[in-house]
Amino acid sequence: MNSSQYLAWIERSAAALAAAQDALTALDTAIGDGDHGANIRRGFDKAAEKLRAQAGQDLGSLAKTTGMTLLSSVGGASGPLYGTLFLKAAPALAGKTDIDTATLAHAIADGVAGLAARGQAAVGDKTMIDVWQPAAAALQQAAADGAAPAAACAKAAAVAQAAAESTIPLVARKGRASYLGERSAGHKDPGAASSAIILQALAEVLA
Ligand code: ADP
Ligand code: MG
Repeated sequence: MNSSQYLAWIERSAAALAAAQDALTALDTAIGDGDHGANIRRGFDKAAEKLRAQAGQDLGSLAKTTGMTLLSSVGGASGPLYGTLFLKAAPALAGKTDIDTATLAHAIADGVAGLAARGQAAVGDKTMIDVWQPAAAALQQAAADGAAPAAACAKAAAVAQAAAESTIPLVARKGRASYLGERSAGHKDPGAASSAIILQALAEVLA
């Protein structure tokens, strides 16, 4: 993945999140406060705008800008969490403008570790971690198998999609949805849904 593909990823995520905004709003209305669709769309729009002014810079700088922008513009619980994901991924990308699958997997694993530490959530708590953790593991496995970034990300996106669906029967143990207790079961987690969209966008730009 190179710097222009990274920009294309964030732009494609922004477009896909805009297309899914109403669906994400509906998910967050069912088990939260209904702001996730607008929050995440605004954040990725802003990030894409900032990144366009940074064309040609290394991937670490781009990831840092993405994280800072999401942190300051998304709001809610998910803003700091998505922000942390990109900020913690940035060091592994510093000084690099074109990366292989192993470096991408390493960066995303670092980001997901930061996200888990910040949110204090584990797989099964019905949050975005339910998607990012297995997606990061799939990327690392693909890297170990010698897969190219496109194939690795296609695999991670498929894992992410299934993982987002798997949040439906769960009872939320973290975030606003946890206030509903058993009533949170039967709905897909909005952050898990937006995370799967972002990973799908990555697979699409690398395909
Ligand atoms: P808020 O809940 O403050 O309105 P959003 O609606 O933007 O924030 O985001 C909600 C999403 O954030 C949830 O669907 C969940 O995926 C994620 N989330 C909430 N709390 C946590 C946490 N502690 N760890 C990981 N993800 C979390
Ligand atoms: Mg919300």
